[in-house]
Amino acid sequence: MPTPHRFVADGTVIRLARMLRFAGYDVEVVPDPGQAYRAAVREGRTLLTRNRRRFLNRPGVFVLPSEDLDDQLVRVLARFPQEIQPGQRCVMCNAELQPATPQEVRGEVPLYVYLTARTFHRCPRCGRITWPGTHVTRMFARLHRALHSARPSGSGSRS
Ligand SMILES: [Zn+2]
Repeated sequence: MPTPHRFVADGTVIRLARMLRFAGYDVEVVPDPGQAYRAAVREGRTLLTRNRRRFLNRPGVFVLPSEDLDDQLVRVLARFPQEIQPGQRCVMCNAELQPATPQEVRGEVPLYVYLTARTFHRCPRCGRITWPGTHVTRMFARLHRALHSARPSGSGSRS
């Protein structure tokens, strides 16, 4: 597998950034386009943006032509393939999640979740606790669809 790419997303593609983090991609968010570009250059990251007029043909920038999240996801997965590790990274702040036992999160998650979920993760940066649930299931479904479309054999019908 290719080495993981690192990205900065500006404010135009925040939902894409969250989906990519869910897939395991390293994506920092810097809402201001100018600051995002400078951060990307400074840290050797690729800038993800919808800001076509400002960044078209700028090296180190990947411009997304569509505002459709599924389309954006497919384009990034196809252009920057890497090992997909769903649920290993905090979708809100990009830190790598750490496993936590049910005992460790007791009192911090709803009782029914504590009683039914078996695997938990905690974000060391923002403290967010995650577990397999409806939200994650939806993200899995979206990621699965995108991965299917991003495969070279499945890309023929897309314009
Ligand atoms: Zn976090």
